[in-house]
Amino acid sequence: MGVIVAMPTAGACAALPGAVIAMAEVRGLTEEEMARDLLASGLIGVFIATAWTFAAEVGGCQAEGGSAASMAAAALVNMAGGTLPQSVAAASMAMQSMLGLICDPIANRVEAPCLGKNVMAAANALSCANMALAGFDQVIPLDEVIATAKLVSTQMPRELRCTALGGLSITPTSIAIEKKLACRKTSCACG
Ligand code: SF4
Repeated sequence: MGVIVAMPTAGACAALPGAVIAMAEVRGLTEEEMARDLLASGLIGVFIATAWTFAAEVGGCQAEGGSAASMAAAALVNMAGGTLPQSVAAASMAMQSMLGLICDPIANRVEAPCLGKNVMAAANALSCANMALAGFDQVIPLDEVIATAKLVSTQMPRELRCTALGGLSITPTSIAIEKKLACRKTSCACG
């Protein structure tokens, strides 16, 4: 609960910088080189934000984690010396793999399963970057995948779009944790 850099969102702020920093450390890249690689991811983010959204309330976690994975994949390809088409192909494949991902924060807090989803998004980005660098065919181009994610989000019930009304949010454990946290806040005896 300190300073959070939304990259591209607060809930999904670990996947992109985590993947880029780890790759930069492995490859011994400078901060300036890292900044340039982040620009590649930023361009993918512009395409997503322009055509769709980063908001989980609109698109579920595919809009947060999916966008983060897509942006990170493009940066990773750039860091490995890949081409522009390979970067965009990696971004497309990463988003394809996260279509339909719901948003269901446990206890109505952006902590779990968000952390795991960030780790999954980073691993997905790395895999898709490797696939693109190996010449794997994205099949569906990025703009069509973003349009598909947008369409899928209109087909998702609101319970699965960051309302804490579905998914893991309504498990007995999630409800118990939420109650406990609320009790702590009010210094209630049962907390
Ligand atoms: S589950 Fe929801 S709150 Fe958590 S990272 Fe995904 S979109 Fe954000």
